Amino acid sequence: MSQLNPSIGGNHEPPPIAQSQPSAATQTDTAQSGSMLTDKFGRVHKSLRVSVTDVCNIRCQYCMPAEDVRFLPRSRLLSYEQIARFVEVVSQWGIRRVRITGGEPLTRPGLEELVRRLRRIDAIDDIALTTNGMLLGDQIDALESAGLDRVNVSLDTLSEATFKRLSRRDGIAQVIDGIDRAVDSSLQVKLNALVLRDVNSNDVIDLVRFAAERDIPMRFIEFMPLDADGAWNDTRMVSGAELRTQIEAEFGPLTPVERATKSQPAQEYRLPTGTHVGFIDSVSTPFCGSCDRLRLTAEGKIRNCLFGTEEWDVSDLLNDKAGVDNSRVKAVVQACLAAKHAAHGIADPDFKPPQRAMYQIGG
Ligand code: SAM
Ligand code: SF4
Repeated sequence: MSQLNPSIGGNHEPPPIAQSQPSAATQTDTAQSGSMLTDKFGRVHKSLRVSVTDVCNIRCQYCMPAEDVRFLPRSRLLSYEQIARFVEVVSQWGIRRVRITGGEPLTRPGLEELVRRLRRIDAIDDIALTTNGMLLGDQIDALESAGLDRVNVSLDTLSEATFKRLSRRDGIAQVIDGIDRAVDSSLQVKLNALVLRDVNSNDVIDLVRFAAERDIPMRFIEFMPLDADGAWNDTRMVSGAELRTQIEAEFGPLTPVERATKSQPAQEYRLPTGTHVGFIDSVSTPFCGSCDRLRLTAEGKIRNCLFGTEEWDVSDLLNDKAGVDNSRVKAVVQACLAAKHAAHGIADPDFKPPQRAMYQIGG
């Protein structure tokens, strides 16, 4: 695997790798909030990503292996009740937003039950879902009734052939149907694309048009070294800067839009037509300094970073029928936070990707 070596950029200038360190502003936030979920760099944690499964119905090459995937046994997954217990506890310490992810979260039966349980937790004011959209059309009504606020659908191409090449499965028509059903619902919808050079790098303009026609934001995520095949390198990744040049050449100048919150990972821009396009430049312009996220894996491990190499198990603590011992959960969560690094360090010469791939962590 290349370590962002500028000498292997081919004809493409490698993006500058910025180091984002926690800022003085976040330190001030800490002092004011007094939150228990504050790390040693002063970052206050308000978001939780919850993976409900590592199973997926497609096999994106930037995420999963093509064959022989060994999924967690069903018996090791946290139940919806256990997940809701954990969220209830951490909501007492400042978690306000939950994103449900996976694997493909909609492959887990009855996901609306989890949404319903989370909706009943007073302190949680935002419940979102990230999905590949394949099963969204069938489930959108149930999710909407259960109280889901937002859905992000991954859409990397509009072409069946490219979809098959990227995800090693058929199904783009199903994804588009799911998106259209979501757009017709009351939910807020965003689209996310990951661009791999020479695979879907010619699809960028069509994707922006597709989103603009539906009046929903399109966002582009840089490919990170979290693929199961270990095939990431900085020449396969198309940087946000390169995509912005491509989009501006087609649509005209992009105007930056101020971030709604400091912790929002996407930098948004407005096209001359008014359409919003966002860029999550996690590799070329890390936003670790304003990270407010914790993660819970499907089998009940908490993680402080996508790139972390350590996990803290809370599954046993959530089993007790008599109720959760908050002080024990708190001790584990605080140990996890105390170990959080200032930044992901992808650009460091000794960087090693985590042992788990994206589908096993929860993106
Ligand atoms: N299956 C759902 C989906 O694809 O939307 C949810 C889980 S998926 C792991 C969440 C997000 O992670 C997707 O938007 C996907 O594009 C992104 N992702 C997967 N592998 C990635 C990688 N190596 N680098 C950056 N993003 C990745
Ligand atoms: Fe499945 Fe999402 Fe990973 Fe693609 S990115 S393989 S849809 S979990």
